[in-house]
Amino acid sequence: METRFCVECRAFIDSNLFITRSRRTLCRAHTNKLARQVRLKKWDQDPLVRKTHEIWQIAYVDSLRTFKTAIDMKQSDLLELLQSLNINISDAVRLVPVDPTKPVSIDNYCFTSVINKNDMCRIWRKLHSANDYMLFLDPKTKRPVYGSSMKHDYCLSIENATVHETLHFRH
Ligand SMILES: [Zn+2]
Repeated sequence: METRFCVECRAFIDSNLFITRSRRTLCRAHTNKLARQVRLKKWDQDPLVRKTHEIWQIAYVDSLRTFKTAIDMKQSDLLELLQSLNINISDAVRLVPVDPTKPVSIDNYCFTSVINKNDMCRIWRKLHSANDYMLFLDPKTKRPVYGSSMKHDYCLSIENATVHETLHFRH
């Protein structure tokens, strides 16, 4: 059996456990481990990616605990949305559903502040009323909304219609 020396294993091991034409001093397992670390480090250094991960994680937990459903948005979709909306990443942004009876998705999302998000979650847990919940997204209440899947006419129609009529109108 031909052997090679891996500087991480600090041992001579079967040469079949090395990737040919790659780092000669590392076995396959250690080559992969190194590549993974490099990828993670690179990923970790992009502030928007880090922010995306944070926002997604919190929305994931809120979905399960408060809205009793699973988030229906991938982190890559969230990243694209944040990029397209040009949201200032120094802001503490949170992701909530517009319609609390449906999962957060690219058709049902809203970016708001931490305080507004916490209020919305609390109100939904206590009252379970879409009407009251959605007041927190109504422009009239002047709560911070940084971007959402709501159509403009939908935002305006909230004033005059009941939520159920509005939702019906929307779908
Ligand atoms: Zn090794």
